[in-house]
Parts: sequence; C-alpha cells; structure tokens
Amino acid sequence: MPDRLRPRLIARPHPALTAHCPHCGAAPGKPCRLRTTGTPIPTPHASRQTDARLIATTVCPACQVEPGIPCRTDNNRPHPGIHHQRRTQPAA
Ligand SMILES: [Zn+2]
Ligand SMILES: [Zn+2]
Repeated sequence: MPDRLRPRLIARPHPALTAHCPHCGAAPGKPCRLRTTGTPIPTPHASRQTDARLIATTVCPACQVEPGIPCRTDNNRPHPGIHHQRRTQPAA
C-alpha cells in the first residue's frame, strides 16, 4: 500500500507535554488545566510550549544538559520546569 494512503489521524500527545508547565504547574505528561476550574485543556499553555521548544533546541547554561534533555537539579533530579538561564539565552 502506498505510504500516502496510511491513516495519519492517530492522535499524538502534544510535544509540549514533555515539559513541566510554568503557568499552571502541570507535571510532564499531564495536560494543562485552567487554573480557575481545574478543567484540562487540549492545547498546552504558550509558556509551556516555549519551554518545550527550548528544551528541544538549547543547551542549559545552568545544568549543562544537552538539547532534548529536560533540566536537572544539582543532585540529578528532574528540575520542575527549566532554569531561567535557559530561557534568557538567545535561541540557537
Ligand atoms: Zn499549563
Ligand atoms: Zn537547566
């Protein structure tokens, strides 16, 4: 069967879901929620999408992780969100 006829509508998790949401505090893998009502929303918050893009494309100046790796704390635990240094450097 030609590739173009394969079904392509399988829902995939939004790529930003790999990041912690700095806006509503959603953990990695969990959907963003409205802070007022707790209702899950289908599209992650803009700041979460920005963080996920930074994780995918930049090295963190604070914890030295490579592109694609979320920030780590000093004792090598997952950092909630990303270091502010990662956010303020110019994009690669
Ligand atoms: Zn959120
Ligand atoms: Zn970091």
